[in-house]
Amino acid sequence: PAIPDLDTLLPELDAALRADGNWGAPASYIPELARIDPAQFGISVVTADGRLHQAGDTKTRFSVQSITKVFTLAIALGRSGDQLWQRVGREPSGLAFNSIVQLEREEGRPRNPFINAGAIVTTDEVLSGRAPRDALAEIVQFIRTAAGSEDIHINDRVAASETAHGHRNFALAHFLASFGNLKNPPEMTLGTYFHHCALEMTTTQLAMAGRFLMGSPTGPRLLSTARVRRLNALMLTCGHYDGSGDFAYRVGIPGKSGVGGGILAVVPGKASIAVWSPGLNVYGNSLKGTDALARLARAMNWSIF
Ligand code: GLU
Repeated sequence: PAIPDLDTLLPELDAALRADGNWGAPASYIPELARIDPAQFGISVVTADGRLHQAGDTKTRFSVQSITKVFTLAIALGRSGDQLWQRVGREPSGLAFNSIVQLEREEGRPRNPFINAGAIVTTDEVLSGRAPRDALAEIVQFIRTAAGSEDIHINDRVAASETAHGHRNFALAHFLASFGNLKNPPEMTLGTYFHHCALEMTTTQLAMAGRFLMGSPTGPRLLSTARVRRLNALMLTCGHYDGSGDFAYRVGIPGKSGVGGGILAVVPGKASIAVWSPGLNVYGNSLKGTDALARLARAMNWSIF
């Protein structure tokens, strides 16, 4: 079948997903996220020619949460290179994003940089002895440069809400420290972590920010081609918590999800895609966002397999 035109396909996709009703429920463990209306959906696609195609709630800012783990990993690799892998692994975890059991079994070296323990380590690496506000400034600036927009900010209420309810993450950070795998005081690393998770973006901004992962000349070049490939490999194998295999099976492209209901997905050489819908599926990934990506990848023949 012929490849459809995105400017026709995306509004159709938006209408079809809204019509079927079932929105799922937003993440409940961060009160500021729990009160968000689940009946929202937006999708933005930037193609390799730099054009933006979109439909739905693409102007609403949402909490990007774990999606920032992709950007902090890019920065940590830029600062420390392959030394980073002494502190964190590159294997899917098969357990929940905030699981602690594996960390004990593997002696304080988190399985991958996209589960919480691993992202706390990459944040610690980005912090490397600086004041948290300086590390945060670098993270925010990296994302603004990637997106080509200065209008991207941290929501302090979300950061405070997560800090107040962050017992798991405090436990993970102290556990890492007990194995000697934190260089900074746990409270400092976590403060930085909670604040970058609380960044807010629209799907338009997020799709723009993902351009450097496409490996095409579109947008700023922030990472070498070799690192872009490796980041994509990690997104494919580890980007959807313990639902990563299911996402690869259903959608077939690298992606990173966050509990705010956003997903950043990459079609190497072809497109950067951001979807957002706050209701989550059993794995904690956006329910409608995953459906939308599965339908889009099928219609556009975008699976990498
Ligand atoms: N800041 C969130 C947490 O640590 C990120 C969770 C996520 O999006 O996976 O719980």
